[in-house]
Amino acid sequence: MFKPQKYKIPDRPGEPFIDPDEIRAILAGTSEPSPAQVRRAVGRSLALERLSLADTAVLLNATGPEAVEIIFDAAARLKRDVYGDRIVVFAPLYIGSRCVNDCTYCGFRASNRETVRRTLSEGEVRREVEELAGTGQKRLILVFGEHPVYSPEYIAGMARMVYETRRDAGRINRVNINAAPLSTEGFRTVARAGIGTYQIFQETYDPQVYARVHGRGPKADYTYRLTAMDRAMEAGIDDVGLGVLFGLGDWRFEVLSLVRHTNHLEACFGVGPHTISFPRIRPATNLDPRSFPTVGDADFRKIIAVLRLAVPYAGLILTAREPAALRDELIRYGISQIDAGTRLEVGGYSENGGTQELAREQFELSDPRSLGEVVTGLVESGHIPSFCTACYRKGRTGEHFMQFASGGHIKKFCTPNALLTFAEYLEDYAGGPLYERGWALINELVPSLEDGIRETAERKLRSVRAGGRDEYL
Ligand code: SAM
Ligand code: SF4
Repeated sequence: MFKPQKYKIPDRPGEPFIDPDEIRAILAGTSEPSPAQVRRAVGRSLALERLSLADTAVLLNATGPEAVEIIFDAAARLKRDVYGDRIVVFAPLYIGSRCVNDCTYCGFRASNRETVRRTLSEGEVRREVEELAGTGQKRLILVFGEHPVYSPEYIAGMARMVYETRRDAGRINRVNINAAPLSTEGFRTVARAGIGTYQIFQETYDPQVYARVHGRGPKADYTYRLTAMDRAMEAGIDDVGLGVLFGLGDWRFEVLSLVRHTNHLEACFGVGPHTISFPRIRPATNLDPRSFPTVGDADFRKIIAVLRLAVPYAGLILTAREPAALRDELIRYGISQIDAGTRLEVGGYSENGGTQELAREQFELSDPRSLGEVVTGLVESGHIPSFCTACYRKGRTGEHFMQFASGGHIKKFCTPNALLTFAEYLEDYAGGPLYERGWALINELVPSLEDGIRETAERKLRSVRAGGRDEYL
């Protein structure tokens, strides 16, 4: 399904691969595409082929109402066909806000004197994890500023501690990381702690814009960041997460560059990104987001639909930076993972009774709903909240996961596992109407599972009802 393509800069592991002129030329060469061109590109996506950069540019450049409708319908169909109605749920855990960089868009930037600088102690991290595990969370992403204190050994130590922490039956089964790029040796140290995904956003793939917003500190090195995922993969981290901070450069250029980065990883390692993220700039202390070019909701919707079509196998993450109503709407165009019950203050889960204080946050949160509220919303719209971590625990990562996801196996394994982990959530953490409605949804969906899988799922669901835990396929 992946055909290597020829680019001006050949793909070599550890070497830069973005040619801005080439990307701009592809965008310019596909302006004002016809609905027929759009239909052809969309047809390839629906056949689960990875789109070429030219095909992706056709979709990005399509503006007529008919063409745009074709794109949204196809993205929604692909989402349903490949991912089913399952949405993976996780939470971010901010470990420390110290930072030596000065990214103009971030509340943690070194020159921002109003930010409260804090790094959690081991005991404090444990308390945060106990609080999160006590609400039913199973997947966390640990978030760090960039500082010598947050060394590979430190990051690895924190990941190990999170895995070891328990709250009654609650425990975290997958620890992902969002932190600065590391050397290959550094990534190896972190890999040994058994982390899931290592996420690094390029922020912008446009070198000029990049230089403007990253004036000082190690992050000013565009190429070191661009090649970080190569080093992570060389170090044995199978699952990497790409991302762009929308509101810095031209959004069409950024989406095409994300696909170019995907092609680079596929060409060099035979495996693309596990996830793609597309945060939009939010207000922060001493920061007015109006000083950055806004990406409006209509363009944002299109970014998601086009990424869904261009890279069908990658998980797409939509965070609580976006308001609840918009998140609920955008899920249908391709989102497969959301955070829930999110608190961004360092220490915010176990302290301050859930209040929000901007000086302690990297940026302002838009969707402050609790995990229970998000889960209820998902169930009401017919989605199955999934706390599944089976692939990672069964070694179905990286290349294995790509084959797994692209072969249409998500419905065979991920859907029953979503039902099983959701059933556990209902038994341990839900009450009243959510409990009833949740089990009704599970019972409604079980008959549609494939023969063979259905019987196993039914047996395991009976076990969960009877008190069995950690059941998965
Ligand atoms: N310090 C590491 C780094 O920069 O790679 C870790 C990530 S940082 C804590 C997490 C991400 O938040 C950044 O990569 C950036 O995309 C995003 N971010 C920064 N400022 C933001 C803002 N004002 N609004 C929304 N997202 C923001
Ligand atoms: Fe530091 Fe990351 Fe914020 Fe930049 S985005 S100031 S590196 S925490």
